[in-house]
Amino acid sequence: MTLRLYDTATREERDFVPMTAGKAGIYLCGPTVQSAPHVGHLRSAVAFDVLQRWLERSGYAVTLVRNVTDIDDKTLAKAADAGWEWWAWALRYEREFQAAYAAVGVKAPAAEPRATGHIPEILGMIERLVANGHAYEQGGSVYFDVRSFVGYGALTRQALDDLSPAQDAPLEDKRDTHDFALWKARKDDEPATASWDSPWGPGRPGWHIECSAMAHRYLGEEFDIHGGGLDLRFPHHENEQAQSRAAGYGFARLWMHSAWVTQSGAKMSKSLGNGLLVSEVLAEHEPAALRLALAAVHYRSMLEYSPSTLDEASAQWARFQGFVARASEKVGAPSAATVATAELPAAFVEAMDDDLGVPRALAVIHETVRAGNAALTAGDDAAVAAALLAARSMLDVLGLDPGAPEWAGEKAGASDAAMGALDFLVKADIEARAAARAAKDWATADAIRDRLAGAGIVISDGADGARWSLASES
Ligand SMILES: [Zn+2]
Repeated sequence: MTLRLYDTATREERDFVPMTAGKAGIYLCGPTVQSAPHVGHLRSAVAFDVLQRWLERSGYAVTLVRNVTDIDDKTLAKAADAGWEWWAWALRYEREFQAAYAAVGVKAPAAEPRATGHIPEILGMIERLVANGHAYEQGGSVYFDVRSFVGYGALTRQALDDLSPAQDAPLEDKRDTHDFALWKARKDDEPATASWDSPWGPGRPGWHIECSAMAHRYLGEEFDIHGGGLDLRFPHHENEQAQSRAAGYGFARLWMHSAWVTQSGAKMSKSLGNGLLVSEVLAEHEPAALRLALAAVHYRSMLEYSPSTLDEASAQWARFQGFVARASEKVGAPSAATVATAELPAAFVEAMDDDLGVPRALAVIHETVRAGNAALTAGDDAAVAAALLAARSMLDVLGLDPGAPEWAGEKAGASDAAMGALDFLVKADIEARAAARAAKDWATADAIRDRLAGAGIVISDGADGARWSLASES
C-alpha cells in the first residue's frame, strides 16, 4: 500500500507520488512572530512533524522548509506600542516559538528562512510578475493583478466576484479591489529600518510573496507538498499559488491543511481571549502529553480543547511510559537503531498510509501495550520483548517514544554514567537487604531501606525481587 494524502486543492485522497523518487520537499507556513505561541499554534507544527516522520520511516529523504514571518503590520504596531525595535520584538517571539516547537519534539526544519532575509528573492519575483503583466505599480506599491490570472480562486474554488476586497492596502490604489499587495511603499510613520530599496522606492514585502519567493529558493519551481493551518487557505495560499504560477512556476503539487484547536467551538486565538499560552500549559503538564494531545486527533479534524484534554493525554502518556519502563527493566531496552528500523504492525502502517490516521494508529499502540502488560503479568519474556519493540517503534513514528532521549526526563538528564554508578551501588544494597531478609534479620533489612530512603531512593518489592527508583520520579 502506498501513502495516500488528502489534497485540499482537489478535495480527495491521492497517492503520494514524489517528484523525485525517494525524496519529499515540503513547504510549511511558519509563525508570524508577533506574540507568544499558544497551543493552537503548535498544532500544525506537530501535524507536519508527524508527516515528516512518517515519510522518513517510509524511506523518503525529507526537506521541510518552515518560514518565519518576521515583519508585518501587527509586528510593527505591537513593537511600537511596547517601545521596542520591531526586529528585536520579532526575534524575541521567534525564539519563543522555536523553544515551544522543540519542547514538544518537533524536529528542526531543514531551512527556517525569515522574510527579511530574502528581500532580493522577493524583489526578483515581483519584478518577474511586473514584467509579464501580472503585477503593476501604484504609488510606490506593487499589486498582483488578479484579473490577469485565470487560475485565481482555483485553490479554494471561489469565484472572484464572490470574494470580499483584499484589505491590505487602500482600495483606491488598486485596479480591482481583490488585487493584493506584493510590495508596500514605506509609510511615514513606519521606522526606516522596516523598509528596503526597490525599483519602486523604499518599502517592504506584502505577506504572501515571501512564501512564494522562499519556496522557490529552497525547493525549486515545483515541489511536493505545501502545508499550513486551515485558516491560511484563503487568502494566503490562494495568493501564494496565483503569484507563483503567474510567475511561471508549477509550485505545490499537493496541499495539506491542519484543522484548528477550538474552545467551545471557536478557533483558539488571542483575539478571542481564550488563548492558552504554551508556557502556561507546560508549567503544569509534561511536553510529551501536550504533543500527544495535539497529535491524537486526526489532523483534519477540529481539536476541541477542554481542561480534561491534557489530563487524558497525560494519563495515556503515563501508560506508555510505564509499560516501556517495566518491560525494559524485565527484558532490556532495544537500541535506538533497532527501534527505528523494526517492522511495524500492518494495522499501524495501514492507518498511517491512509492520510496519517493517527487515531487508528494510536489504537494499535494501545492494543500492543495491553498485550505487553498481560505478557509481563504472565512472565512471557518473548512476548514482552516483542510488544516493547513494536510499541516503541510505533510511538517513535509519532515522535512519542518514551525511550527516546528527549522524553527520558530526569533519569536521562543525569548522565548515563552517573545513573549506571548509582544503579551499581544501590543494587549492592538491595542484595545486602535481601540477604538480611533471608536470614530474618529484619533490623538490618529495615536499616538499609531507611538509609536509601534518606538518600531519596525508594525500594519497592515485587514478585521478581526489589526494584529502586528515585523518589522524585514516583
Ligand atoms: Zn505562507
